[in-house]
Order: sequence, then structure tokens, then C-alpha cells
Amino acid sequence: MPLKLFNTRSRSVEELASREPGRVAMYCCGPTVHNFAHIGNFRTFVSTDLLRRYLHFKGLSVEHVMNITDVEDKIINAVNATGRKLREYTTEYETAFLQDFDALNCLRPHHLPRATEFIADIVSLIEKLVARGIAYRAADSSVYFSIEKYRGCGCRYGQLLNLNFEQMRVGERVSADEYAKESVADFALWKARVPEDGEVFWPSPWGEGRPGWHIECSAMSMKLLGPSFDLHLGGEDLVFPHHEDEIAQSEGAGVQNPGEPFVKHWVHCAHLLVEGKKMAKSLGNFFTFRDLVAKGFSGREIRCLLIQAHYREQFNFTMEGLTAARANLSRIDELVEKLREIAGAAKGDADPAVLNSFAERLDNDLNISGAWGVIFDWIRECNRQIAEGKFSGLQAAAALATWEKLDSVLGLGGKPAAEAPPEMLALLEERQAARKSKNFARGDAIRDELKAKGWQIEDTPKGPRLKKL
Ligand code: AMP
Ligand code: ZN
Repeated sequence: MPLKLFNTRSRSVEELASREPGRVAMYCCGPTVHNFAHIGNFRTFVSTDLLRRYLHFKGLSVEHVMNITDVEDKIINAVNATGRKLREYTTEYETAFLQDFDALNCLRPHHLPRATEFIADIVSLIEKLVARGIAYRAADSSVYFSIEKYRGCGCRYGQLLNLNFEQMRVGERVSADEYAKESVADFALWKARVPEDGEVFWPSPWGEGRPGWHIECSAMSMKLLGPSFDLHLGGEDLVFPHHEDEIAQSEGAGVQNPGEPFVKHWVHCAHLLVEGKKMAKSLGNFFTFRDLVAKGFSGREIRCLLIQAHYREQFNFTMEGLTAARANLSRIDELVEKLREIAGAAKGDADPAVLNSFAERLDNDLNISGAWGVIFDWIRECNRQIAEGKFSGLQAAAALATWEKLDSVLGLGGKPAAEAPPEMLALLEERQAARKSKNFARGDAIRDELKAKGWQIEDTPKGPRLKKL
């Protein structure tokens, strides 16, 4: 069965048809690296990862691009406020973002372009728009995109949203000088240097300045994936204006073959909410990934929570939800442990019936809730058969192979080995010292004490380590 996904462009669930058979080219708008990302942001990235993993599961190859927005208004404000260099500042948050991204077991995109490294491509794209008369240099030396000219060429602005042009863009972030623009609807492609930009500027045919946020994604995506590609993702707040503007800039440049859109399939992830409101830095109602780790939760548990609900369903973040995700993982881990014990060295093949039911749910617009239903029915059935002593080694091995396939999509990974607390590690060290000084009685006493506290000493080629009993 083909995978069907809701396409914001057609407002319907459609088959994901790629340009090149067997290969999906996808772009996801990445983080703005001005602070630590919150788990709302990560909901979008984990959903993207789930989709990518599912495409792999279906035997498709994927080329995945996620940009790093390392120049825009918030970053410049922060750089000015801290007096730090742009690259030094953004590197700190980019590194932190990628650490969190890895801890959530998201597969690294094949390309992670930084906007500041694509200035030449951005400038050349703006040049194309200026040459076609769709963009113009204003009195303040900024370059704006003219929605009126774009529409005048027979192009449609508002492919993702039905827009009321009279009411458009009220309160939207635009370049500082409103009066320089020919129309309030126009948006900045190139922002002329102003004193507040400090050291952050590049030369261009229109004078020193910096790119607007929207044009960054058009330039980077088309450079890496070509002028027309399969799939573009982001959070639902990006539909307008960011993605509308991306379409307008990319299609306005006239670089696609006739009749081909910039992007075929637009997928948007609904917001993670806190008490009914979008989790957002500006609202102050957010948890960063690191806040939750400090509360004792692991990346695996947070990922498990983020893949509970359908990607198009807004859902509320609660600590209870996170604790429930932890309990779900324990159920899975307990089963896997039992299966390992029964399977021993046996090898088996995954159960196609379970995998087919799982895939049937996910083919339907990535219906993860349905897929979880299949998984928990399967867990219940395995547990029932184990309790009745009906599971042979071979069957257990087959069930393990089934879980491995399911988890290649969920990306939860195995239960991590428990880390011994510092007091236990201190006892282990004391035991090593006792043995070194040939005080074997003391060494044995410590071994017994550790055992009583639930830790067993295991000798490994790298030296002794503690294993939870
Ligand atoms: P930013 O770093 O602000 O550019 O956002 C990175 C990504 O996170 C974008 O795709 C946003 O749409 C997405 N995003 C922001 N807030 C939320 C939220 N509360 N829930 C889900 N996605 C979000
Ligand atoms: Zn973008």
C-alpha cells in the first residue's frame, strides 16, 4: 500500500508520490539557534524523524535536509545583548540542539545547511526575482518581494492558506522601515544594514545587509534538492507567512520546469500545547529538553511521549503524560527482556501479520495512535502466551525480530544499561584498592555489600563494572 499523507496544499490526504521512484527528497525547516530548543520544537523534529524512519521501513531511500537558521532578528538581538560574535553564539546553541536531537534518537539529516554559509545562493535567488520584476530595491536599500507583481504574473499567493489580502500581514514581522515598501503586504528578501545589526552583514548588489528569514529556506532547499522536490515539513505556525513566502520566492524565480511546483507535498505538524496554549518561548510556558532531563527523564521517554499522538493533532504536554510514556516503555522493556531469556541463541523472522497491520495504520496519514493499538495488542498477546508457557525459543526469537522492525520506525531503542550511582562506584573502587593490597577478605565483603544493594560486579576486558541485578 502506498503511504498517504495530508497535503496542506490540497487540503486532503494524498498519496506521497515522489519524483524519482524509490527516493524521497525532503526538507524540514530547522531550528533558529538563539536558545535551547523546547520540546514543542522537538515535537516537529521527532514527527519528521518518525516519517523518515517509516519511509525507510517501506524500502524507500530518503534525502533529508534540515536547515539551521543562524541569522535572523532574534539572533541579532541576542548577539547585540551579549556582545558575542555571531558564529560563536550560534555554534553554542547549534551544538546543544544537535546533542538533544541525538538524545531523542532522531536520525541526523543528510544535510544541515547553515543560512550564513549560503549567502551567495540567497543573493543569486534574489537577483533572479529582481530581474523578473517581482522584487524591488526600496529607498532604504532593502529588497522586497512584491506580492502584487507576483500575482500579476499569474502566480498564486496563498497556495496553503486562503488569504484575505486586505487583512494580510497585520502585526507580522517585517523589515524595520514599513514606509520603504510599496505595499504593506510585501516582505523583505534582503534587509539593508542598520546600526543595530552590529557586525552582522554581508555585501550584496544592493549594498550591505543580511537575508530575510524566508528566502534562506528557498535558497538552501533548492540548492540541495533541486528547484522542485517531494516533501516539505515544519510546524503548523510556519504555514503562513513562512511557507507561503517560500513558495512565492521559489516559484517566482521561474526555475521549475513548466507545470512543476516548488514542492509537491506540504506536511505540517500541530503544536504541542501547555494548558491549551502553544508551547512557546514568547509565552514562557515551555520546557526545554534539558529541563526534563534535569527532572530525571530520558531522551527515550521524552521521544515516547512525543510520538503518542497523531502529528496533526494538537496535544497537551503534562508531567502525567510523560510518566505514562515511561510506564509504556517499561511494559515494552519487560516483554523484550522476557523474550530474550526465552529465545536464548535462537534466531527468527519478524511476523508479517503484525508488521502489515502496523503499516496499514501508518500508511493512513501516519496514524500513530492506530499503530500503538496494534503494538499493545501484540504485547498483550505475547505476554498471554508466555504466561501460559506456550512460547518456544524460536517463537520468542521471531517476536524479538518483530519488535526490532517495529522499533526501526518508533526509534525508541533498547533499555539503556542502568548507571550505578556514585556511592556504588566508590565501593567498587574501594574493592579494587583492597584487592590490590591483597586484602581479599575486605574485597569480598564489599562485593557482598554491593550485591545486597542490587549491584553485581562484572569483570570486563576494560576492568570491572557494575551491573544492576
Ligand atoms: P524555531 O526554532 O522557532 O524556528 O522552530 C523550529 C520548529 O519548531 C518549527 O518547525 C516550528 O514550527 C516548530 N514549533 C515551534 N513551537 C512548536 C510547538 N509548540 N509544537 C510543535 N512545533 C513547534
Ligand atoms: Zn524554513
